[in-house]
Parts: sequence; C-alpha cells; structure tokens
Amino acid sequence: MEKAEIKSLYPEELKKRLVQFGEPPFRAGQVYEWLHQKLATDFSQMTNIPKTLKEQLEQHFTLCVLEPAEVKISRLDGTRKYLFRLADGNVIESVWMQYHHGNSVCISSQVGCRMGCRFCASTLDGLERNLTAAEMLEQVYRIQTLTGKRVSHIVIMGSGEPFDNYDQIVRFIRLISEEKGLNISLRNITVSTCGLVPEIRRFVGEGLPVTLALSLHASSDQVRKTLMPIANRYSLNEVLDACGEYFAATGRRLTFEYSLIKNENDSQAEAEALSRLLKGRHGHVNLIPVNPVKERNYVRSDRRSIEKFKNVLEKNGIPVTIRREMGQDIHGACGQLRRSFILS
Ligand code: SAH
Repeated sequence: MEKAEIKSLYPEELKKRLVQFGEPPFRAGQVYEWLHQKLATDFSQMTNIPKTLKEQLEQHFTLCVLEPAEVKISRLDGTRKYLFRLADGNVIESVWMQYHHGNSVCISSQVGCRMGCRFCASTLDGLERNLTAAEMLEQVYRIQTLTGKRVSHIVIMGSGEPFDNYDQIVRFIRLISEEKGLNISLRNITVSTCGLVPEIRRFVGEGLPVTLALSLHASSDQVRKTLMPIANRYSLNEVLDACGEYFAATGRRLTFEYSLIKNENDSQAEAEALSRLLKGRHGHVNLIPVNPVKERNYVRSDRRSIEKFKNVLEKNGIPVTIRREMGQDIHGACGQLRRSFILS
C-alpha cells in the first residue's frame, strides 16, 4: 500500500488512523501539534510520543520536508525568494515578504502551469504536476522556521493555477487556518485565479471567506483573449458574475489584478472601459507593472501611463492601488528563478 502523506491529513483523519493502530485519541492531538505547530521535520523529534508509535508512523506515513536549493535576499527590503527542492527532484518558488502588518508568504500551487497566460514565465513549459496540500504547507512551515518569524499572511499567487488543483488547495486553506495548526486567519489568505468559473462557483460553497483575487488584465473579452487562453472558455461577464456570487456569500471584497503592458492593455480608453465593467462589482483594482519575461516581447507600461490609468479609475469611483513591488533586485518575473535554475 502506498504511504499517506501525514501532513495532508485533517485532525479527524489523523485521529481515525491512530485509533486504528490502537492508540488513545489524545495521541493524535500530540502528533498533530508536532507537525503543524512545532513544525517537526522528523518523527524522531516527537519526544512525548512512544517509540512504538513513532515506528508505526515511520512505517505508514511519509513526512514531506522541503530543502532550500537556493535563497535570494533583497538588499532593498529584505524580501526573500526561496527555491525549494521537492522529494521527486522538481523545484518550486516561494517568496517571503515583510510588511508593516506582518509577514507574508507567496506560495506555489503547482509545478509549472497549463493556463498559458502569454506574459507569465511559470507556464512556458506547461504543467509538470499538482502540489499536495503538505507541499504547500511545507513552503510556509519551512520559511517560518528559516526566518524565525511568524507568518501571518498567505497569498496563493506563485506558480500554478490554484483552482486547477482544487481539492488540495481547499485542504491547504483548511489546514493552514486550523486552530491546532498555524491558525492563520482566513481574512489574511488570498487566492488568485485566472478565472475558472465552475471552480469559483464550487468555492462559494466551501464556507471559506478568504480574499478572492481575479486576474483580469483586460477590459474586453477581445483583448483578454490575446493575453489569456482561459478567456476563450469563459467570458468576462461569466467570470465576474461568479466572483459576484463569492462576494454575496462571504461579504469579502474582491481584488482585480491588472498587469499593465505597454500598448496592449494600458490606454485611457481601456481604463474607461474597465471602470464601466467593474462598476458595482464590489472590488478594488490592483495595478501591476508587468514583469518582462525574456521569452516574450511584452514591455512594461511607463510610469506616466500607469498613473494616468489609475487616475481614470479613481475619477470613476473604482478603488485602485498600484502594487508596491517587493524585492525588485531579486525579482525577475514570477517563475523566473525556477526557470533559470532548471535551464542552467
Ligand atoms: N494562476 C493564478 C495565480 C498565479 S500568478 C492567476 O492567474 O491568478 C499571480 C498573478 O501574477 C496573476 O495575476 C498573474 O496574471 C500575474 N502575473 C504573471 N506573470 C506576470 C508578469 N510577468 N508580470 C506581471 N504579472 C504577472
């Protein structure tokens, strides 16, 4: 029988397994605490667990631990970019950022991605595989251990499309917000999607009031199709309606991400159209100057166009911010550290 990954289990699942071994139920609580609060990397560290049980755990479960293959630390703002090696040899990126409100980790949800957004480095080689909930938790646990600082915020905005890995993402969100674990508030978790409509609808029913961020990047279906293949499957109206359902169910205001690309989606006419599209949609726009990817010839909008774009939205009463860029000296576009590592 294939071993189960112990860190992916909910508390009640772990309890069921241990009771099957003939253990008293309280043992499950102790083991869970070692895994999700003390962030143990080996069963042998569990000092209050009997040796026989540790042997059984070893025999029946795997324990996912990520090893940093490379770390880059920004001299500008302390942002750290980690390249983690997975058990099967794949590598993924995670980023740690310090803000006045706390420390935030940006995690990857897949190795690669199959969504094909034209400006994105993570998708250039397609999807390799989904990450497990344990591998997503481990990105946070390892970073908290390595920095020695409590993580308070999570953004699921690294490589991958979270809703293309639906079951593991939901499991990850429940485990990371579990009070017997790191207990990160759902209000401090953001899930970013390119807009998979059936999964957004399904997510409405999970009862998880996180922040939903939609990657919009265009104000018309026509332009969006030139940037994001997913726009051929779902229209802007469909995806915005699904987001509206999420707002209605959770009361959580939406975020609309809009990467500004010179001469592609950054005109004032597009800002006007975007204002009309988002009027009454209960969200704010996050403008991101596009990170140029060397395999693509997209160019970042200049500062003046970005300011003008923002002013149009503001004049029309749409809340808007320009994303503060963290770790610019170590950045490159998302997914590029992994890419340069694989190709080297
Ligand atoms: N698949 C998810 C999350 C991953 S990417 C999604 O599509 O939302 C997180 C955000 O970064 C998305 O809004 C994505 O469109 C954007 N992004 C990707 N590559 C970028 C680049 N080169 N420059 C600016 N933003 C980029």
